[in-house]
Amino acid sequence: MSSDASGKVYLVGAGPGDPGLITVRGKELLEQAEAVIYDSLVNEAILQWAPQAELFYAGKRAGNHALIQDDINHLLVEQAQLGRKVVRLKGGDPCVFGRVGEEMTALNAAGIPYEIVPGVTAGIAGSAYAGIPVTHRHMSSTVTFITGREAMDSRSLGTLVTEGTLVIYMGMKTMDEMVEKLLAAGRSSDSPVAVVQWATYEHQRTVSGTLATIASICAQEHIASPSIIIVGDVARLRDEFAWFEDDSTPS
Ligand code: SAH
Repeated sequence: MSSDASGKVYLVGAGPGDPGLITVRGKELLEQAEAVIYDSLVNEAILQWAPQAELFYAGKRAGNHALIQDDINHLLVEQAQLGRKVVRLKGGDPCVFGRVGEEMTALNAAGIPYEIVPGVTAGIAGSAYAGIPVTHRHMSSTVTFITGREAMDSRSLGTLVTEGTLVIYMGMKTMDEMVEKLLAAGRSSDSPVAVVQWATYEHQRTVSGTLATIASICAQEHIASPSIIIVGDVARLRDEFAWFEDDSTPS
């Protein structure tokens, strides 16, 4: 491997939580890293593979994103300019609601080379670990990834949210409003919905309901962030295919 005077940044997906779900490439890079900059939704157990690296926690506080993202960009550039091999570790996949674009812009501006290592995104992993295939030949042939914030924007609703499977990230705080918008857009109130909290962790919890009932079920069961919300007929398949959580495994 050539030695880079300027260092290099590896934008690595850590996967959704279960340490076994990081890629082989991601783990190799952690083992070689000199600096690791990681987010709040990264399972810290994964850091065991980088005992030699200097660790930087870059968790963001709600409401203060812009400033802190600038600090992260600065830190990435600074560490790479020390000539280091820098792993920027992000929960799930770095390119799915991961603000990786802003970081690559900063790296481009500083002339620092980078590599993207995809990861298993929470929407896919959470669905799988809840026993819900996001597509099914007889039920759904499209999947839409959406954030709670976008679901609030009626312009982005369109036909995308009226058919197929919807996987909603960061949607717990705005769930009531989101349900209202989906109903207004034409989704039926008895559309199946599943919510998966702490997907792929040992303490994963999933609840099921319909668009009409899911908000009160989540409140009652104290299901909050971090969770993904799966809307569509496939959510019903959990009754048949749940395999991960002890209390939901069919006998
Ligand atoms: N890049 C990440 C997403 C970051 S946005 C990825 O690809 O997974 C943060 C949102 O992701 C959270 O609000 C939540 O909706 C979802 N999320 C991340 N990890 C999760 C987990 N282990 N279980 C459930 N949802 C998770």
